[in-house]
Amino acid sequence: MPRILIIEDDLQQSSMLSDYLSSEHMQITTCALGSDGLALLQKEHIDALILDVGLPDMDGFEVCRQVRTFSQLPILMLTARGDEMDRIIGLEIGADDYLPKPFNPRELLARLRAILRRAQHNTPDTILRFGRLEINEAAHTALIDGENINLTGYQFDLLSVLVKHAGRVMSRDQLMDELKGHDLEAFDRSIDVHISRIRSQIEDDPKKPRRILTIRGTGYLFARQQD
Ligand code: CA
Repeated sequence: MPRILIIEDDLQQSSMLSDYLSSEHMQITTCALGSDGLALLQKEHIDALILDVGLPDMDGFEVCRQVRTFSQLPILMLTARGDEMDRIIGLEIGADDYLPKPFNPRELLARLRAILRRAQHNTPDTILRFGRLEINEAAHTALIDGENINLTGYQFDLLSVLVKHAGRVMSRDQLMDELKGHDLEAFDRSIDVHISRIRSQIEDDPKKPRRILTIRGTGYLFARQQD
């Protein structure tokens, strides 16, 4: 059971998170002050840290900076809003990931699992994340909410190509060109079949896809943001 420390002064938020993560088989410790969290991290083994930026005694960035002087444990930072500056500062001082408040607990769980996994395998960061979807190119896995989804090798490669060109329309010809190694898939039509299979795995509603969009008469587009 991974042991997680939450440093967060909003007690309602921290008890909600603590209940939720406990129900997902994690062992949770909470602190409301940065200084208490730092003291605890120095004497006990913790697998990952969830760190709020706004704390009463010192800000979360300072806590993160100090943690990095003695530990490489994975750190997920929480901030009040999606401020790009916060994100950049957080990542520059060594946080592993960042989540703006308010957040979906399931998304937090998925990210927490991802940073725990990365720390465990100590693999370089080859993970691409789009909302609930996470793609690990090195491991050849695609996950939704941290759970593996079922794709064939061809489908995984097709999804990777779309993701690599996220925000750009890809024609069927371009897609097939990128997937040339797979010569079993000779016909135009098969792309569509595989796309619907991928959609059935990654879309909330595969009939109304918001992630992989069909651009009529042209091809497909992987949307970075779902609107
Ligand atoms: Ca706070």
